[in-house]
Amino acid sequence: MEFRDLKKQYQMHQQKIDDAIKAVMSETHFISGPQVAQLEERLAAYTGVKHCIACANGTDALQLALMAWGIGPGDVVFVPDFTFFSSGEVVPLVGAVPVFVDIEADTYNISPQSLEQAIEYVLHHTNLKPRVIVAVDLFGQPADYEKVRRIADRYELLVLEDAAQAFGGCVGERRACSFGDISTTSFFPAKPLGCYGDGGAVFTDNDEWADLLRSLHVHGKGGDKYDNIRIGLNSRLDTLQAAVLLAKMDFLEEELTRCDQIAAAYTERLADVVKTPVIAEGMRSAWAQYTVCLESAKQREVLMTGLQEAGIPTAVYYKKPMHLQQAFAAQLIEAVPCTQTEDICGRCVSLPMHPYLEEAQIEAVCEQVIRLRK
Ligand SMILES: *Cc1c(COP(=O)(O)O)cnc(C)c1O
Repeated sequence: MEFRDLKKQYQMHQQKIDDAIKAVMSETHFISGPQVAQLEERLAAYTGVKHCIACANGTDALQLALMAWGIGPGDVVFVPDFTFFSSGEVVPLVGAVPVFVDIEADTYNISPQSLEQAIEYVLHHTNLKPRVIVAVDLFGQPADYEKVRRIADRYELLVLEDAAQAFGGCVGERRACSFGDISTTSFFPAKPLGCYGDGGAVFTDNDEWADLLRSLHVHGKGGDKYDNIRIGLNSRLDTLQAAVLLAKMDFLEEELTRCDQIAAAYTERLADVVKTPVIAEGMRSAWAQYTVCLESAKQREVLMTGLQEAGIPTAVYYKKPMHLQQAFAAQLIEAVPCTQTEDICGRCVSLPMHPYLEEAQIEAVCEQVIRLRK
């Protein structure tokens, strides 16, 4: 069994994907080919956001957003303590300081209460300036943007939605990548919408930021790429990846629906033996991960070992809170306790989750988890 079965996906849609790739090979317009603009238009329409700028990966997408806003030395960016390293890594990259914020015990997304405490701490105990809230849509479920937005408005902060795991996720009718002042996603192969290499995108309704992002992701170009008016990055999405993504967009909705069914089947069978994911009212997860919690690290170890022996892969997202990552040690500001994160890091484990899981495989996972929890 695969944790996320990309081979099966390719087999199911091989003709469509091969055709898309071959078209790029014969046109040889490998950088900034027409598929890139087509993809940007399609993703903008899908998310309901005015501008989409495709870029090289989800980490660059976050960095480009901070660059467009001119975030730098003296600025603070608030980041959830429970996320992939990138969400925080980009902050020191632009010279600013990350301040880590605890999460909600049920959704694992940023805790509005902890966020507010962290902002107050920075205002009263440092001479740094709060500027940005990074809200991560963890495991595919959008963060609580109603509350995050209220706090952002009160303190005049910008909201950066890190939807790397949530492309296709929704709050009501509104799709992920539409909740930030700028939002970003990743097309890393194992994400809900993945390409065949690295890829990412930035979304915004703001015309001025969109222009800046277009310039920043191609060497700070002005009128053309040999007219450079600012320092930027080389962060384009290549044409092959755009073509693959365009092909995959045709069956994304189908895949998301199947993931909803699989998650429901898991939850129905497993809710009595492990803590299953909590999807808040009105939310739709893109199911980047199906993450359960055990009662202790010891129990998690027993479960993971037992599943491995039964040929069922698992993974721990994430083992280590951001504030304990050595990379941040030199400039760490411990504004708030992150006890929920520390607790969840010790007990969580993600089960195989992808749209091509078969009924027998779902059954096998549930059977083994139940057996190992007895
Ligand atoms: C994967 C991921 C990223 C980074 O995306 P890349 O395309 O791998 O650079 C950023 N944030 C989160 C939450 C992610 O899961």
